[in-house]
This record gives sequence, structure tokens and C-alpha cells, in this order.
Amino acid sequence: MTRCLDCGSDRIADQCPACGLTSAAAELVVRRRIVKRTAFFLVGIIVFVAASQIFPALELDSIQIFGGVVFFLSLALGYWIDYRARKHQEIEALKRIYFGMIPVPWIFAGLLFLNGKLDNSRPVRVPATVVGKVATGAFPRSRRLIVTSWRYGRPFEHIAVDQNDFDRFQKGDDIIVQAQKGAVGIPWVYGVFRQ
Ligand SMILES: [Zn+2]
Repeated sequence: MTRCLDCGSDRIADQCPACGLTSAAAELVVRRRIVKRTAFFLVGIIVFVAASQIFPALELDSIQIFGGVVFFLSLALGYWIDYRARKHQEIEALKRIYFGMIPVPWIFAGLLFLNGKLDNSRPVRVPATVVGKVATGAFPRSRRLIVTSWRYGRPFEHIAVDQNDFDRFQKGDDIIVQAQKGAVGIPWVYGVFRQ
């Protein structure tokens, strides 16, 4: 017993009784659908990266690493499904997982944006000392000030800053970090100031 590549119905003849596609047509249709949804997924990743920088989370680095892992796993899965579809192998379960992943970057982008946008918690202003600086690339918001942490059990925080703040502060400077609690509980950084 095989399943229709497109709609997943059990199929006894070459033509699917549910959607009417032959196995060759179903392969074309399903591969086109995968390409379309992958494009939607890729746009979602771009929106996610942009949204994560508008109200930069305190854990921005971890969030972006997690986003990167989701990105590569999803693309690998998409590629694998396409490969199996070409060989007319069973793809129904993989297809459901993959199509389930497609809106994930959009959901995370919306969550991070609303977390900052709807945040009306009182700002928390904390003193910190700059202990280092890192610039990981040419992307905006890839500059980090490494500062002493005000949170329990953490030695340092990596604060996303713009080029201006990155140049302005040096190792050893005492600064004020304005943090916000976040509307959905993801702490983010409003800005850094001189004491
Ligand atoms: Zn079908």
C-alpha cells in the first residue's frame, strides 16, 4: 500500500482516489508546495532576525543560536523530503513535521516584537561595568558589550548595542543598563548609559 505524495490518502491505483492526481502529478504538486512553503519559511527567518533586534533580548545570542539550529534542521528536513518525493517514497509524516515548522520563525518574530512593543513594565536601571567588547561581523546589532551581571548566578551579560555605544564605551567603564521585563517575560535591553 502506498500513499499519495500530495494528499496522503491510501492509493491502490496510480491515480489517487481522493485528489485525482497520478503519482507523477502528485510528485510535481508536492515539490512545488514544498518550494513555496520553504520560501515563506525563509522570509520568516529574515523577519525573525529583524524582529529580534528591535527590542534586543538579554539572551539574544542564545535565541539566535536556537534560531540557527531550527533553520538548518528545517532546511535539511525539506531537502530530505524533496529527495524522497523524487524517489516516490513515503513522506507523509515528514511532510507534516516540516509544514508544522514553517510558521515557527513567524511566531517567534511576533513574540519577540510584542514582548517589547506591549511592555509597560517599569524599567529596571542597574549599574554594570564593561569588562570586554566583541564584534562578530558586519551585521547590525552584532556588537556586544560584555558587562558584569546583575542577575543571580551569572558572571556576565552580553548586551547588544549599536556602533555608537560600542565605540563610546571602553573596558573598565561603569555604565547603567536599562533593562525591561518584557510583556511575555523575555527580558530585553532598552539601552546603555553613562553613570
Ligand atoms: Zn491524493
